[in-house]
Amino acid sequence: MRDDKWLEKELGQIWSRYFVDVTKINKVVIKFGRRARTRLGSIKKLDNGSSLILINGLLKELNIPDFIVQATIAHELTHYAHGFSSSHERKFKHPHKGGVVSKEMQIRGLEDILYLQKKWLKENWINYIINITRQSLHREEEKEKSDLFLFLSSFLIPCLLFPVYCLLFIWRVICSFGLRKREKEQAYLLSMSIYPA
Ligand SMILES: [Zn+2]
Repeated sequence: MRDDKWLEKELGQIWSRYFVDVTKINKVVIKFGRRARTRLGSIKKLDNGSSLILINGLLKELNIPDFIVQATIAHELTHYAHGFSSSHERKFKHPHKGGVVSKEMQIRGLEDILYLQKKWLKENWINYIINITRQSLHREEEKEKSDLFLFLSSFLIPCLLFPVYCLLFIWRVICSFGLRKREKEQAYLLSMSIYPA
């Protein structure tokens, strides 16, 4: 599974290869974020002045090709270069309008990776999400089953058995009372036989 260190390495390589003219004028942090169905990445400016690039947590899985993550990093880095969520001067009014990100990536020699990303996503992403959803549902069902078993074994079964325990206890008390009565009678008869009137 990929981790944040791997992301940092990829960011460094993409930056030095395709964005070498873009100065890092503020700190840029990259991390895996939460798992999402639609958004592959995002960039935002933090209160401390750093830019934070978050990559969809689903892209940690190694069965998703590296170029999907690399194209996502390049996309977010393009926003950074355009002055969105970065300390650079803003070059456009809107981050995506007019296909400015794709155009910039093509100019920088990233058209192949962009094409591969779009093709892979078109052919695989929906099925990938469906599988992930199925797996999550299956896990939830398994959890519900184990919760039900836990409820039955720890609460419901003891509750149902409680009246049986009570009846057994009452039966035992009655039996011991009868036994004591018989013992007393026997003792009395014995005393009568030892000390006859
Ligand atoms: Zn974007």
